[in-house]
Amino acid sequence: MNTKLETQKGKMFLAGRWVSREETIDVRNPQNGEKIASVAKASREDMRYAIELGQETFDSLGKWPVHQRIAVLKRVSQLLLENQEDFARTIALEGSKTINEARGEAKRAAQTLEIAAEEARRIQGETINFDQNEGSENRIGYYYYSPVGVVGAITPFNDPLNLVAHKVGPAIAAGNAIVIKPASSTPLSALKLAQIFSEAGLPDGMLSVITGSGGEVGDELVSHPYVKAVSFTGGTDTGKEIKEKTGTKQVSMELGSNSPVIVLADADLEDAVDSSVDGAFAAAGQNCIGVQRVYVEEAIYADYVEKFTAATNRLTTGDKLSEDTDMGPLITEGEAKRVEGLIEEAVSLGAEIATGGKRNGAFVEPTVLVNVSPEATIAKEEIFGPVVMLESVPDLKAAVKRANDVDYGLHAGIFTNNLNNAHYAIEHLNVGGVMVNDSSDYRIDAMPFGGTKQSGIGREGVKFAIELMTEKKVVNFKLNAPF
Ligand code: NAP
Repeated sequence: MNTKLETQKGKMFLAGRWVSREETIDVRNPQNGEKIASVAKASREDMRYAIELGQETFDSLGKWPVHQRIAVLKRVSQLLLENQEDFARTIALEGSKTINEARGEAKRAAQTLEIAAEEARRIQGETINFDQNEGSENRIGYYYYSPVGVVGAITPFNDPLNLVAHKVGPAIAAGNAIVIKPASSTPLSALKLAQIFSEAGLPDGMLSVITGSGGEVGDELVSHPYVKAVSFTGGTDTGKEIKEKTGTKQVSMELGSNSPVIVLADADLEDAVDSSVDGAFAAAGQNCIGVQRVYVEEAIYADYVEKFTAATNRLTTGDKLSEDTDMGPLITEGEAKRVEGLIEEAVSLGAEIATGGKRNGAFVEPTVLVNVSPEATIAKEEIFGPVVMLESVPDLKAAVKRANDVDYGLHAGIFTNNLNNAHYAIEHLNVGGVMVNDSSDYRIDAMPFGGTKQSGIGREGVKFAIELMTEKKVVNFKLNAPF
């Protein structure tokens, strides 16, 4: 397979064709600002054209047979695995992840598409017992799932391949056309995925990857009347803005969070430390389920802080392509400065830095804060950087109260070896997922994934995204005589 990316020539993938535009977007390596590629900068007209071609292709295919959808998805999953290293390098070059993290994402994306192939088989309805209503004895019928037509999807920078796979996989499994608008800072992984979909035989027009500004082409995508379902992953403020424009479309929003982890005195301390350090600093903390707030029972607090800080100090930061690097830079220097400002604000309100705290260009040291005021932004909002706060709490009830005392609710973790404590947390944590003896950062791609409060609407995870991208259609036959 030719893995030389067309994107190097400043192109985008419009309904099966690689097209260039006079205006381009530079893609830069966040760790040194070097230009690594450029892609076409699409206009609103380009976006409209992609959507119209999507609708046309969807209409012309009629009912696209499930076995053909499965074949394409399986082939793409296989091609992705065959080119895993190439995809990993693209993810690591354009984004924040280290090469080891990027390899993990490429493998997961292949799995997401394989799950999509399997779920395509299982998109089926049920018969309906119409005779439960008096007068409906001679009726028979069922409901089934039909594709919505064109799905519009917008993705963020932090998982530039797997989050795209989480939209394209379910859309194709359900028989839809899909138009993707990837983050402007990381469009290359999405374009590369489009390349292998094309090679795997996806009919032209069923997928477009339109690269351009969110406020312009993203806005066109979520407002266009042909787009019947909008799947958005990104920041809460952007999500709220988009929601106002989607009208009667089906919508899913995977938004931000500031995930809590609770550590009780009966937990396996080493495991709680290792798992939470990993969850706090993976992808330089730019992870919607990354560990941001840790509430530790007071009996073990001092010990936990010491071990957590020591484990953080062992992390190496540096060149993303080096096999030995644990943590890379933030996506831009501007983002690193924003995070630095939030550390300074917390310190000005009384927080102490247990380790880290410094910035160098786009890099921020893995940072552990203690004694953080509840008024500090980091105690309330999503920080989206390599910063974690540790806080002592008297007991489980207090920990759950602190964990819930924010406007977000994606995932939470609790470390305990007591079943009653675990169940109390499961019942009382107001979040989309509770991980027992794992940090909030735990996820597999087949599970329902999403949040409460300002963390979102709806659920991803292939089977659950398919719900968004299909309509239930009811069929009723009235027979001449009771049967
Ligand atoms: P972002 O700034 O909200 O951007 C996300 C996407 O939205 C980008 O493609 C962006 O395009 C586009 N966009 C921006 N303004 C738009 C508008 N007015 N209309 C339509 N589209 C628009 O988020 P980000 O900084 O890339 O990603 C970080 C955020 O994503 C964090 O808050 C994180 O928690 C969240 N996230 C959530 C999940 C989840 O599953 N819950 C997963 C990953 C990340 P441009 O790039 O061109 O601006």
